[in-house]
Amino acid sequence: MALNCPKCKSQLNEFEIEPGLYLDRCEDCKGTWLGKGELVMIATSRDDVRKFQKELVVGKAGTLPCPACAQDGKAQTMLELKHGAEELTIDYCKTCFGLWLDKSELPAIRTIMKQLRVKEKLGRLRSLRTV
Ligand SMILES: [Zn+2]
Ligand SMILES: [Zn+2]
Repeated sequence: MALNCPKCKSQLNEFEIEPGLYLDRCEDCKGTWLGKGELVMIATSRDDVRKFQKELVVGKAGTLPCPACAQDGKAQTMLELKHGAEELTIDYCKTCFGLWLDKSELPAIRTIMKQLRVKEKLGRLRSLRTV
């Protein structure tokens, strides 16, 4: 059974956001639902996901209901997760570990992951030079 968008209540459909990558997306607001463990699907590696998650902090309770829990008949309000340095707030369900990404948040997460990779590479270069 398909989930409903936590924002506009439209049905989420599996959508090929790029060749070979299918995610549950709302056609009205273009938001994306990532179930537990699916963050890796928009990352290039598990390592990216680990580094990204390390910099997330739990913010206040959000306002959006979790679409997966709502379907199971358990109303859950998602929490806001903030990414340290960036202006990024994503919604997270602490019960089913799903993530709701607004339209601009999916590319923003990918950009952050890329920046973390670059930062690490530069750090490695710098430490080589000081040896
Ligand atoms: Zn929507
Ligand atoms: Zn949930």
